[in-house]
This record gives sequence, C-alpha cells and structure tokens, in this order.
Amino acid sequence: MHQDEFVASLLLDYRLGTIAYFPDKTEGWITGYANSDPVVDGSTVQMQFQLANGLPHSVRIPLASLTKEGSLPPLKNPDLLDQVEDLSLLSYLHEPAVLYGLRNRFTAKQIYTYSGMVLIAMNPFEKLDMYSSDVMKEFSGKKRDEVVPHVYGIAEECYRAMLDGKNQSVVISGESGAGKTQSTRYIMQYLALADSLGKNGNLGSSSTEDAVLASNPILEAFGNAKTTRNDNSSRFGKFIQLFFSDPLLGNVRITGAQVKTYLLERSRLISQPDTERNYHIFYQLCAGAPLAEKEELGLGSWESYHYLRQGNAGVMPKVDDVEEFKITQEAFSTLGVKVSVQWSIFKLCAALLHIGNIIISDSGGAASISESDSSLMKACELLGLSSKDFVKWITKKQTIIGRETYLKDVKVESAVIARDSVAKVIYTKLFDYLVQIINKNLSMESDPFHHPFIGVLDIYGFEHFPTNSFEQFCINYANEKLQQEFNAHVFRFEQEDYVKEAIQWTQISFSDNLPCIQLIEGRGGILSLLDEETRLQSGTDATFVQKLNSVGSGNQCYAKARFGTTQFVVKHYAVDVTYNSTGFLEKNVDSVSDELKGVLGASTNLFLKEVLGEDAKEVVVGRKVTSMMRAPTLGTMFKASLLDLMVTMRATECHYIRCIKPNASKKPFEFDGPMVLSQLRACGVLETIKISNAGYPNKLTYTQFAARYCILVHSQYWDHADKKELTQMIVESVLTDPRKYQFGKTKVFFKMGQVAFFEERRKDRV
Ligand code: ADP
Ligand code: MG
Repeated sequence: MHQDEFVASLLLDYRLGTIAYFPDKTEGWITGYANSDPVVDGSTVQMQFQLANGLPHSVRIPLASLTKEGSLPPLKNPDLLDQVEDLSLLSYLHEPAVLYGLRNRFTAKQIYTYSGMVLIAMNPFEKLDMYSSDVMKEFSGKKRDEVVPHVYGIAEECYRAMLDGKNQSVVISGESGAGKTQSTRYIMQYLALADSLGKNGNLGSSSTEDAVLASNPILEAFGNAKTTRNDNSSRFGKFIQLFFSDPLLGNVRITGAQVKTYLLERSRLISQPDTERNYHIFYQLCAGAPLAEKEELGLGSWESYHYLRQGNAGVMPKVDDVEEFKITQEAFSTLGVKVSVQWSIFKLCAALLHIGNIIISDSGGAASISESDSSLMKACELLGLSSKDFVKWITKKQTIIGRETYLKDVKVESAVIARDSVAKVIYTKLFDYLVQIINKNLSMESDPFHHPFIGVLDIYGFEHFPTNSFEQFCINYANEKLQQEFNAHVFRFEQEDYVKEAIQWTQISFSDNLPCIQLIEGRGGILSLLDEETRLQSGTDATFVQKLNSVGSGNQCYAKARFGTTQFVVKHYAVDVTYNSTGFLEKNVDSVSDELKGVLGASTNLFLKEVLGEDAKEVVVGRKVTSMMRAPTLGTMFKASLLDLMVTMRATECHYIRCIKPNASKKPFEFDGPMVLSQLRACGVLETIKISNAGYPNKLTYTQFAARYCILVHSQYWDHADKKELTQMIVESVLTDPRKYQFGKTKVFFKMGQVAFFEERRKDRV
C-alpha cells in the first residue's frame, strides 16, 4: 500500500465520532470522542478528542511515525461488544479494551469473563446468589458457549473431559485476597456433586466427598491467617487431586483425593506484622477449648501469648473463634481423626505458645533462662522434654576444636532465634503431618489413583512488595514456571487450530521467559549459588549477592541493584523485582541445631516423635555431625516439588482461572482501574493477548459469519447454501488487503480490527 493510501485509510479509522482510549492516572484508561476529522498538517496528523472526564485532548503524530506500534490511540470496539463474554472476540484486542470490557461487566455484576481459554474472576466482595446446587444444575451437561462464564463452567468442562478418560488440571492464580481459595472451593463443591447433577432426585454426597470437603477447614485452620490483604489468607500453596471411579463402569464417584502443599509461611508462627494474626488454630484453641482442657494445657486468652499478640488483632469482627474451633474439630472427626489424636495435636499447639513465652534474659552478655520459668516448665511438660537439656541447648553452643569440644554461651538474640526455630520446626512438621493424615483418609478405596483425576492448584500469584525477601523469590519463581507452561499452552492451542483449519501461518514469536527460569534454577543460577553460600562457613547474605553480581552480569534477566550490597534485581515477565537478600541464607536452611534435635528426639511425648519422624532421631551429642550441611535446602526442595508439579500438570489438560482483586479496600463492586491493570499484567493475560494478536485473534465459523454479515451483499445471495462461499464473497467485497484474513476449513480468521470494520459496514445497512 502507498503511504498516502495508508494515511487515507487511517483517517477513516479516526474520523469524526470515533472513540479511542487514552491513558489516565486514576482510571487506567479513559475513552475520548473525536470531535472532528483528523487533519494532515504538513508532516503531522492532528486529532481532537473530548475525553470522558470532560477535558479536551489533542493528539499530534508525525506522519513518519504513524506505522510505529503504539503511536496511534487504541480504538474502542463497537458497542455491540461492550458486554462481550469472551474478550478474545473483541475486534480490537489491547490493554484498554480488556480493562473496559471487564469494568463494564463488573459494573453489571458479571464477575466472570473469558479471555480465550482463561476465565477471569473478579472478586465481588459481596455474597452473590450464584453458587448453589440449583445453579450447578444449569451447568450440568452444557458446553462452554451454551452458558454464561462461571467457575462451574470450568468445573463442568473438566468433568466431561475426565469422563473421556483425560486427566485435567485447573490453575488458579491471583494475588492475595483475589478469590483463589474461594474459587477452589466452588470447583470442589461442583465436582463432588457432578455425577448426581444430571439426574433427578436428591443430590446425595458420599463419605469420600464429605471427607474431601472436610480437608478444607483443617488446612485453613492450620495454614490460613488474617493479613492486611485478606482475613482468611492461605499462607501456603496447594494442589488437590480428585480421583474418580472408572467412567466406563458408569455411576462415577470420587474414589479418593490427594493434597500436596507448597511453602507454608514459617515466619508467621513467631511474628506477625501489625493488624495481622498468627494461624487461626491458635486463636480458636484459646477461645474454644473447654475449661478442663484449658487447665490441662495451661491456656489463657490470646493476649497472653507473645506469638499471638504482635499484630494486636486477635479478635476478628465477623469471626467467632469458638464456633470455628467446633468446625475444625468436626472436620477432624469427619476425616476419621479420633478425638484423642485431635487433642494430641492441640497439645502441641499449646506447647508452642508456651515456648514463645519463655523469657530469655541477658546475664553479663550471655543468654539465660530461669529454671523455674513457668512457660518453660509447661512447654517441656506438654512436649515431654527435659527442661534442663532444653535450656542448655538454647543458651549454649558447642564448638569442636581439634579433639576437644567446648561449650560456649550465646547472646540473647541467638538464643531467641534458637527458641523460635524449635517452634517453627515443630509447627512445620505438624502441618506436614496433618497433610499426611488428610491424604491417608482421602484414599478411601483401594488403589484410588488408578483412574482419571482432576487437579486444582491454588497458589499465590506474582508478588511485588516494597521489600521482597526469600518468600517472594520462591513465589515468583513458581509463577515464572507456571507462566512458561501457560505461554506454551496458549501458543500450542492457537497453532493447533491453524493446522486443523489448514490455513497458512508463519511461526509466531513471543517473549519467552526461559532465560529468567534459567537464571533462577539453572546451573550456576541463583538457587545453586544460594546453596553454595549456605554451606560455606564464611557465607553471608552479602557475599551471596557479590557472587550473584559477578555471575549474573551475563544474563539478560539479571541486574545489579542500584543501592546496597544485599540487593539484587530479577527481571520477571511481569515486572522487575528488587530482592533484599537479608535472611536468604538462614531461611534457606531454617533448621534447629543437632543438639536441639537430640533433645526433641529424646521426648517422651510419642505423638511428637511421630510428627517429627526422621528429625526425631537421637543425635549423639558431642560428635557433631553437621546434618544441616547435608540436609537439602529449602530452595532445592522447592525446586524439586515444582518440577514434580510440572510433570503432573503436563500430563493433563490445563484450564486457567485468573482471580483479580478489584480494589484494595475490599469494597463490594468497586473497580480500581490501575490496580486491575497491574494484576492483568502480572497474571499474563495481557501477554497472552500479544501472542494471539501476532496470529489471527478473531475467528468465526462460516455459519456465524454469514448469518451476521450477509446483509453486506445483495439479497439474492442470502440463502446461498455454501456458507464458506458466501463468506468469501462478503469478505472479498469488503476487505481489500488479503493479509488481513484467511479462509480455513470451517472458520474464517481475521487480523485485529477487521470484525469492527464489518460491524461498522453492517451498522450503515441496518
Ligand atoms: P485468596 O485465596 O486469593 O487469597 P480468598 O479466596 O480467600 O482469596 O478470598 C478472599 C475473600 O474475598 C473471601 O474471604 C471472600 O470474602 C471474598 N470472595 C472471594 N471470592 C468471592 C466470590 N466469588 N463471591 C463472594 N466473595 C468472594
Ligand atoms: Mg487463599
């Protein structure tokens, strides 16, 4: 096309009355109405717009840069698409259009929207009348395009495909408070009832299904806490697999389930930021334990415990901890955990609270604990430990020089760290133990893992805070891995369609995040350097960053931090994140000394020993075998569990739900544009759009297309039986640039913007 021809067609796109989008600080993007035709003035084009906020806005673009991407204001889609249920049907597919579409639907209380294969779920922060067995029935047996967008639709899709014997997985991501756990719950509820939904009569649920649903309150009591972002924030990731009976035999039941958890936040057990709480179970226990048990466990109110009161938020306005404690106990019973075992569990929890209250004071530069400290006595009584040994190995350290071993006093700070790490180790092990018993109880039928499964992954989304530590690093690493799978999936899916429809296409390129993953997990990457430093006697958080700086300089995803010696930058697909390495080494190991392991191993509390498992082996104190050096680090374990997850997921058909938190103050149906935009970037929705724009983002079947646009050709052709021919006739009469479309076997494919063009022509006719 000639330059002037191009300019002319462009003038048409932006003629009087056109609506386009403009960036806006408070809304993200706002619309503007062209109140005149564009004017070419020498070497520039000028346009005048009236913005939605009432302000005038003029645009001047040099003719020479017109073809540059992003130099023209993005165009609004035809009004017809304002409430579109699938954003991939938008004719102009770009950031403002996505934002506008979501905002429109959300304002109309439509919280779910598809974006191609992704379901976007906006958190309404209000109880909606759209989750019940009656609503479930409306989805049973329906295809995606027969029903409105909904989590139930995804659950139904999984269920049908599973009946065909194909394993399924659903990845639910989003930031804290966006609605991941809630969505997981709705999917589980749907799947538990799926078989009976299509039938008349009562919706019965079996004991396996009850057990599956009962695992939630337990994991939540022990793994969820109140944070500033979410009153019931899950502080761990989880992958739940539901296994079904052989579909060929009919009467499909859930035969078992399995839970895998990732990265429980350990630090919360010993400290919480202002307005946040420790794990729910502790407050439930303090509030809800009967008098006799309170006495036995030495329990007071939550305010009496250092581990519970640091956030000053022990009571939550709408939560009755007494009631919640009953729910936790009932859930244990449903799972088949005996009441006596339940109390063994609660006893450990109480003991941890007492550990946190042990007073460590300074005595001439050395840490000391009074032998009659009542918290010490109670903690050791409940845990079955020798208080003398416990005190000794909290306040002293053993060093070996040559053949001699020496006992050295430690400072108060080190003793506090040692005390707290005992509590952390016990709690982490207890959590793992709970997952184990949940799993044992969930595999009710023999060999339940033989048949197809549906897995649901509920995991924190990308995190980017003012200060980012080891936890954020691990979470963002996980998100990079998930994003890689997701890109590959979207990509494959697009191209499979092109192949199936036999259209000509060239390889689409997209920004691959492999270099970032390699930087993190590859040889000589961040994780392996971290392990190396962790094992070195002389290693510190600062030397770790020093080494990173010299090794990372070759990687495009690494940058030296501008300030400080303990910071480094990773360029993630979503955004560049500066990590503060302070505490990385310690968190990577997070274990207790061998001497303390020995103390725990000598416990007379058999339940504690069962919970600790391997870690409770008695260590011969005096011959210091530094098992810490050999034990796998947290980073390495996490890497392995992620690889394992990826292998499982790759063997499934994947579905994606992206949860969005529409405002920070949790207000019902309030939409904060910039906040939503940054989440859309972080969850890869916008990246996906780029991928699909590189190909043919809009596709319609010949029947769909002919029905809507036959009006653009003479009425004698309207009944033409061959819809493909009819479509070809219409398209070729309207579009002059053959690069903008392709005819496949059953569908016509369009480049961006063409459907809007047809819509415009159609509007002129009707
Ligand atoms: P996440 O797991 O992503 O941190 P949650 O699933 O715990 O977030 O959701 C946080 C809160 O948001 C819930 O406690 C609930 O109040 C509200 N919420 C989330 N999803 C919905 C929904 N679909 N309908 C109504 N409220 C919701
Ligand atoms: Mg959650």
